Amino acid sequence: MHSISPYKLSGPTVVSFSGGRTSAYMLRQVLDNNDDLSDLVVAFANTGKEHPATLDFVQECGERWGVSIAWLEFRDDDAGFAVVHYATASRQGEPFEALIRKRKYLPNPVTRFCTIDLKIRIIHKYLRSLGLSTEEAPVDMMTGIRADEPLRVAKIRARKSTSESKWASMVMPLADTGIGVQDVTDFWTNQPFDLMLTTVNGRTLEGNCDLCFLKGAKQIYSIIASDRPKAFWWARMESEVISGGKFTGDGDRFRFDRPSYQQMIDYSDTQFDMFADHDEAIACFCGD
Ligand code: SF4
Repeated sequence: MHSISPYKLSGPTVVSFSGGRTSAYMLRQVLDNNDDLSDLVVAFANTGKEHPATLDFVQECGERWGVSIAWLEFRDDDAGFAVVHYATASRQGEPFEALIRKRKYLPNPVTRFCTIDLKIRIIHKYLRSLGLSTEEAPVDMMTGIRADEPLRVAKIRARKSTSESKWASMVMPLADTGIGVQDVTDFWTNQPFDLMLTTVNGRTLEGNCDLCFLKGAKQIYSIIASDRPKAFWWARMESEVISGGKFTGDGDRFRFDRPSYQQMIDYSDTQFDMFADHDEAIACFCGD
């Protein structure tokens, strides 16, 4: 007797595509394990601070695999989101900045409202605009969390439905089938295209927002050292909150246990190693 593939759709299903190799791998499995894809919605939420290679990769997955991917961005308006596409997607942090302006303070490692508001919440708003994620039309929310991410798996298993909608059930086919980072790496080794970002032990250090405050200090410094302009947006967000010119409130740093982004820019030439090995990355739900 064959067991049913965990990638088999059993009703309206959303693949939450982070733009990373892991969730793209999951999407490929869904495409390979279903003849009828009419129940499938694939959503990619762009913060505006994604690496350009991530946007290229999302676009390439959609084109090569012939799957429609909804590109979504936060908007501070009644709808709360906009549907964009590759050519019109924000690339200067605009959705993220609009959210900070609305909140009037910065996210930080404890209050990670950016993941929720820029990604999770707008995907649900989009689904509701399609008549999904409601009592009448519940959905499965397929998330690319691997078996080798036990803390994230446990956290999601504990709450089952998403925090945003009780009509969306979290499903984690990769975790359920024991898929780890090596499986994902092996898969991409054999594909004719790939996410053009370097990996260290299978992990993509430049994925998600380019200088996300949850990344390890060493990682942040190395990205700033190789591409200082990336840090200007983060420094500007901190300085504008501090100055009170455009924002008010007291969230004037993304992290209080590190120098400001402006200080990191200033140090990056001369004292690059000063904060190296300072700390490790914190896993967030923005995903791989
Ligand atoms: S990658 Fe980091 S900064 Fe970007 S939305 Fe996720 S937690 Fe926030």
